[in-house]
Amino acid sequence: MESGEPADCEETIERLYHYLDGELTDQRRAEIKRHLDECGPCLGAYDFEFELRQVIAVRCRDRVPETLVARVRAALAAEERRPTEGGA
Ligand SMILES: [Zn+2]
Repeated sequence: MESGEPADCEETIERLYHYLDGELTDQRRAEIKRHLDECGPCLGAYDFEFELRQVIAVRCRDRVPETLVARVRAALAAEERRPTEGGA
């Protein structure tokens, strides 16, 4: 799994944090990105983590209450359950 193969779901989810942290090589990022472009569930997971990070970043600055984080989590979870297709 180290020779430029396309990332699979498991690997993508596993590396989401590193991807978001910018800790991957350009090649690895491109592979994850490509998988996210083609895989709805993984993109949903990515969006969730991304949004969550925004919330946490804001929270660290401005002390956003825990209830808001919970609300965003719930909203994102509801979004994920909605049977949308295609996107954007
Ligand atoms: Zn996937």
